[in-house]
Amino acid sequence: MIISIFAPDFTPPPELFVIKQSPGKGLGVFATRDVEPGTVIMQDSPLILIRPPEMHEGIGYPLDAIQILITKAFDALSEDDQEEILSLSAHVLPGEADETDYDRLKTIFRSNAYNTGREIGLFTKVARINHSCRPNAGYQWIERLGKRVVYATSRIDEGEEISVTYIPLLFSKKDRERRLDQYGFKCSCEACAGHTENTWASDHRRQEIQKAFFELEKELTLEVPRSIMAKKNARRQAEESLRLAELVDEEGLADYYAQAYRVVAVCHARLEQWEPATIWAHKSYEVRLMGDMQSEETLEMQILTSRFIENWEAELRNKSKSRA
Ligand SMILES: [Zn+2]
Repeated sequence: MIISIFAPDFTPPPELFVIKQSPGKGLGVFATRDVEPGTVIMQDSPLILIRPPEMHEGIGYPLDAIQILITKAFDALSEDDQEEILSLSAHVLPGEADETDYDRLKTIFRSNAYNTGREIGLFTKVARINHSCRPNAGYQWIERLGKRVVYATSRIDEGEEISVTYIPLLFSKKDRERRLDQYGFKCSCEACAGHTENTWASDHRRQEIQKAFFELEKELTLEVPRSIMAKKNARRQAEESLRLAELVDEEGLADYYAQAYRVVAVCHARLEQWEPATIWAHKSYEVRLMGDMQSEETLEMQILTSRFIENWEAELRNKSKSRA
């Protein structure tokens, strides 16, 4: 009997998500089982990927040229793929044509397209994920895979809706509403729709976080302070950095965890406090790993963590020597 080694003898793991109706939001993406932070939920290749023509100063993208590229890419797709694209939701602006499939394609592309750096792509699976101002998932474009990868940033329970953010989150509810207008919906996430005291507290935290990032990252350096004043200032900044990490955790802004932990690590390294510096650098590294194992940010945190560990070990050796 010959058994072909090429015979498919395994079934692929079941998808971690299902697309179904989300009350008040059209379709949404839901977890089919409990998902731990860092788990990759989906990897999506673009159905349409175009390289826009050069931007002209003061004019922006030549929209007609983009329209031609989109139409050409769309016409080359299979009927199933075309249907999938046309089933995406789009926010039609006042006065915008919405009669033919091509009109619709244009608004769909505007509402759902994602900038990968050099190109603009339409990712139909990721496009189904609804927005939250306190999302439980994040995403990253990974150039070497040619895919957009969505991963859990916090624990997601079976049946829970998966959410990402469409906008930067360090703004007040009012400012976020204004930014979300372009997508044509009013956010009803827990940060937006809760009691007034809760949204007020959330607004306040986000404002504090933004301020702290601005203040601390402005002077972020590994240089050890020499003067008494500089030392005092560095100690104050280390305290503020811990408060920043606390606020980001409290507000549940997973998109900013890695950035905040990095600030804490560097602020403590400046004080040559190698134990907290190592612990926070490693925390930041772990969060970065979830997004992309090989990104520049991940590598930076890996290097900082090992540098801080070496210093911490040297400190421990010196301590035990002086005790001996
Ligand atoms: Zn919201």
